[in-house]
Amino acid sequence: MFVLPEERVTRLNAADVADKRYVLYWMQSSQRTNCNMALEYAVSWANKLEKPLVTFFGLTPRFPKANLRHYTFMLEGMRDVEAELKSVGVKLVVQNVSPELGAVALSEDACLTVTDRGYLKILRRWRSFAAAQMRVPLVQVEDNVVVPVEVASNKEEYSAATLRPKIHKNRSRFLQVPERNMPKRSSLGLRFDSVDLADVDAAVSRLGVDASVCKAKGFQGGSSQAEKRLDDYLQNKLAGYPASRNDPTVDFTSNLSPYLHFGQISPVPVAAQVSDANAPAEAKDAFLEELIVRRELALNYVYFSGNYDSFAGLPNWAKLTLTKHQADAREYDYSLEALENAQTHDPYWNAAQTQMRLTGKMHGYMRMYWGKKILEWTKTAPEAFDVALFLNDKYELDGRDPNGYTGVAWCFGKHDRPWRERPVFGMVRYMNANGLKRKFDADKYVQTVKQL
Ligand SMILES: Cc1cc2nc3c(=O)[nH]c(=O)nc-3n(C[C@H](O)[C@H](O)[C@H](O)COP(=O)(O)OP(=O)(O)OC[C@H]3O[C@@H](n4cnc5c(N)ncnc54)[C@H](O)[C@@H]3O)c2cc1C
Repeated sequence: MFVLPEERVTRLNAADVADKRYVLYWMQSSQRTNCNMALEYAVSWANKLEKPLVTFFGLTPRFPKANLRHYTFMLEGMRDVEAELKSVGVKLVVQNVSPELGAVALSEDACLTVTDRGYLKILRRWRSFAAAQMRVPLVQVEDNVVVPVEVASNKEEYSAATLRPKIHKNRSRFLQVPERNMPKRSSLGLRFDSVDLADVDAAVSRLGVDASVCKAKGFQGGSSQAEKRLDDYLQNKLAGYPASRNDPTVDFTSNLSPYLHFGQISPVPVAAQVSDANAPAEAKDAFLEELIVRRELALNYVYFSGNYDSFAGLPNWAKLTLTKHQADAREYDYSLEALENAQTHDPYWNAAQTQMRLTGKMHGYMRMYWGKKILEWTKTAPEAFDVALFLNDKYELDGRDPNGYTGVAWCFGKHDRPWRERPVFGMVRYMNANGLKRKFDADKYVQTVKQL
């Protein structure tokens, strides 16, 4: 039987394994077949019990803040998952139902249910509800992180500096990629109602989701796309990452964040391949700092703070200083509509907003500037926080993610330290357009976005 590090596996209820028709894998946060430890764990249980394995995905049209852009990308990935599972004799059942309800219903005929782990409030609620309702074990496998969140730390960390040594101490132990485990019994003959994914546009249109945001230009969902991007990154970009990653006029980042967000690729093989790559140590370290330390710092924040999605989650010093400067005059005070439509006086900010609206992915360096300026140009800091999060989650393909909540919060002082006091920002770090110009050709960036 495939042995996972025990810290990745948690039993969410105390029910006994039953003698029923199949083992159920409730796929939620790990939308892939490659390096999917929850799937491997479920296969090993199915083989041990000599039962077929059925995989279930609940397709709720009401996931908070998700729109046509996100659903299209996600279903492109699920279409690949369906074909890959079919090739090894595993049925994928996709139903238009709230996931926790669908999982509970299908667990009635299951010996046990395995699922992956999610950290946002809604994902945790779904799993707790299902654990309480199921009459068979619900086992959770945490596989979208290198170091499991509670192994890394038992509290909300102050900054990357405090989390980093804890991650580094555990990193190599959790960098193992599982071997593929083949199911012995096929479930393809079992009959279930399932959404037809052959035509993704038609499937999204049948869901009737918010169609006000177009499909993302230049990004197609799916694990094979993610793996192609990873190969390209390893071959052509990793070595140049330290020098060029903060320059949005060139494409030197991995562009993996949308795929990581939907679990279409696991951070474990990405980190393992980068560690083994033939590239300078400085480049590998710089990338692994982002992929592991920064990403898992975001998960730490979301997991330990109930207020990750609001101004209330910021550190006290940041809330105090921003509140003290609440009444400071703003040189510009833009409405949500003006911001959304990229109608500010600042060509660099407008370019960043336009890049996000059209492509579904703003360059990482511009995200910091973009968030800081929303703080500068909105009446109050709590309102600015909400506006930044709203736009981020609406347009970014990787939005509605722990990294997004943490990235927005960073613009307001989270995981940072106090700086010299100034109007509006108080002691929160400030950024201006001259800073952009010192780093790269900001006017070229504007021209690049105009050509999209
Ligand atoms: C205001 C603001 C909003 C953001 N919103 C999001 C969001 O909604 N979703 C999202 O995934 N990231 C968000 N980020 C973090 C970061 O900008 C993106 O993860 C990064 O730009 C993704 O591009 P990439 O995959 O090409 O990154 P690369 O530079 O290739 O990095 C590789 C991976 O490391 C992780 N990573 C990189 N930078 C960070 C960071 N600062 N914090 C945490 N993890 C990081 C990501 O998983 C990324 O895919 C935000 C940052 C800010 C300042």
